[in-house]
Amino acid sequence: MNDSAEITDGHSGDGVLGIDVGGTKILGVRVVDGEIVDRVRIPSQSDGPSVVERIESVVGRLLENADNAPSGVGVGIAGFVGLDGIATTAPNTPGLIGADIGGLLSSRFGLPAFINNDANCAAVAAARGRSADSALLAVTLGTGIGGGFLINGDLFRGKHGYAAEPGHMVVDPNGPECPCGGRGCWERFSSGSGLGWLARRAAVAGNAQSLVADAGSIDAIVGETVSRLLVDGDPDAKAVFDEFVFYLALGVSNLIMLLDPDEVVISGGLVALGHRLTDPLEDVMKVSFPAAVAHRSTRVSIAELGEDAGAWGAAQLVIMGQRRGRGPVSGKGVS
Ligand SMILES: [Zn+2]
Repeated sequence: MNDSAEITDGHSGDGVLGIDVGGTKILGVRVVDGEIVDRVRIPSQSDGPSVVERIESVVGRLLENADNAPSGVGVGIAGFVGLDGIATTAPNTPGLIGADIGGLLSSRFGLPAFINNDANCAAVAAARGRSADSALLAVTLGTGIGGGFLINGDLFRGKHGYAAEPGHMVVDPNGPECPCGGRGCWERFSSGSGLGWLARRAAVAGNAQSLVADAGSIDAIVGETVSRLLVDGDPDAKAVFDEFVFYLALGVSNLIMLLDPDEVVISGGLVALGHRLTDPLEDVMKVSFPAAVAHRSTRVSIAELGEDAGAWGAAQLVIMGQRRGRGPVSGKGVS
């Protein structure tokens, strides 16, 4: 995004805090004028303090290092996070379900607090450098598929805060079961773990001998097995990957048909495949989903988000909230 549209534009002083709560670590950052100036990282779960206490501890340590009070704190959590800032699901950190993190942080530290879904925070990071005067859809291919939709620089959150969860769009009602309770969700096919599942299915059918040989057994095949052998030019890996790309193209095309965004940004570990991913994706979209391509200038691009991206995006929640002139999500019924 250009300078005039930078969501960090006009900010100074001791900045804003962003906290990325992951399944294994909590990363907190202080961001001043768009740049990370301080970083605190601790494990999110082990014996001892609860995950809520650990978040408070990270915020406390970031504040100790700041000369003046930052203007707020944003927190990204994996799961369904309501407009009231309360998570109703949190698969990696069940201790956060129902917790009023925003209320706790604002009452303990006197800071406005903004709580959101981690994929929305990643979407904000993916939008860095893009024009804010546009619609951008971010899709993150990880264990599942996360999503975030920004319109004119602001996150679209839907009625309850649960918008942009493309991973649970059903693409095959007879497909594999999903932890969400459904069946055949997009992320069962087109995530890193979905790639592994497609490969194991091919192996069970006797079509992926080289993958079985490499992994040692069918059960040991994971997405990385496929991507590694793909780079080596293995035909079995290529066949599985072609199937994966078809499902990726299917989902991306459906989202383009629904939203007609300026850009779809794909991130996650698999984007390291670069043109091996984007070239066939483009080809399949043209051939199999032409309506998502014809008469459009929508760009489908990849972004390698660094490990700070989620925390940086969480920090921007504060600035986005202030720009909207809306109150912080610091307790029930607010925002
Ligand atoms: Zn699902």
